[in-house]
Amino acid sequence: MTEQPAHRADLRIDVDALRHNVALLAERAQRSGARTMVVVKSDGYGHGAEVVARAALDAGASALGVAAIGEALRLRAAGITAPLLCWLHVPGDDFDAAVAADVELAASSAAELDAIATAAHARSRVAKVHLKIDTGLSRNGCPPELWPALVERAAKAQASGVLEVAAVWSHLACADEPGHPSIDAQAARFQDAYEQARAAGLTPIRHLANSAALLTRPDLHFELVRPGIAAYGLDPVPHAGDHGLVPAMTFRSEVVLTKRVGPGESVSYGHLWTADRECTLALVPVGYADGVPRNLSGRMDVWLAGRRRPVVGRVCMDQLVVCCDDDPVAVGDEVVLFGPGEQGAPTAAEWADKLGTIHYEIVTGMFRPRVTRTP
Ligand code: PLP
Repeated sequence: MTEQPAHRADLRIDVDALRHNVALLAERAQRSGARTMVVVKSDGYGHGAEVVARAALDAGASALGVAAIGEALRLRAAGITAPLLCWLHVPGDDFDAAVAADVELAASSAAELDAIATAAHARSRVAKVHLKIDTGLSRNGCPPELWPALVERAAKAQASGVLEVAAVWSHLACADEPGHPSIDAQAARFQDAYEQARAAGLTPIRHLANSAALLTRPDLHFELVRPGIAAYGLDPVPHAGDHGLVPAMTFRSEVVLTKRVGPGESVSYGHLWTADRECTLALVPVGYADGVPRNLSGRMDVWLAGRRRPVVGRVCMDQLVVCCDDDPVAVGDEVVLFGPGEQGAPTAAEWADKLGTIHYEIVTGMFRPRVTRTP
């Protein structure tokens, strides 16, 4: 017996769109003299970290950013040699392996700094460290009151030759709300922290801007910007104008069965939808186990046979049903659940709006066991 493929849906990743977005972002950064680090954490926001990394570097990014050391090491194992920063450390992290693989590391505390220095010493390497100041997000990052001591310690370690303080950096809390007063407050604290580092004899670069700040605050580009979501073509400040980004992920499946139903016939679990006329239904073999939120039951459309059509009745674990009126649809017809939204097809941002969440959560959660991803 030949093995049957289990997949029922496909994530198409448009590499040209990734390149287009990164080129556009890098050009915006370049205008202020900044370089671009594309954030490829969480498997490239669900798009495939290696594919995104290569596209980004091709299109003008000069560095990549990830959260976990494991993510960085996987990129190195795939042959990505570009500068690579990793910023969210957890107990047991292998700084040794990171330093050996030439991964640049964030340090938010004396303990992290010491652990990196120890690994660098053991490996006879000079570790590149990005000192992180907490300017108001209250996650990791050195609290301002501990910053002078951290800077001092880093300057000593640099003088002893085990590490180089490559950057001072921070992360914004409300960049996606342009004009929010916290942005300027964080920027002021950031500048202050940078000046303290300079006063201690360090000569780091600065990076602060995520996608939203890259697009709306050129004065905060400094020497490096760190866009994530915009590289994937999703607008970091939804409903605030068109930046020319192209969504790179399309979630698609196909019709596997059609049938006619008449008035009074109901569809799917709970019989939430009943036909009021004769119509054609199309069965699509994707459900909530494949990333279609059950919560969208009765309030989502798909793009099928040239137009938007409603999903009727409950979204099930493995399937959903589309009402196609009297239009000719056939087994094998492509069904786009979301994509770039050309001609008004559904988008990941539309799903997010309906679900009361953000498109980040949608795209990072789409790659599932029965879903293939190409390329
Ligand atoms: N920098 C850091 C530290 C991040 O954690 C992230 C993502 O959350 C980014 C940059 C990129 O943010 P965005 O995807 O909003 O551009």
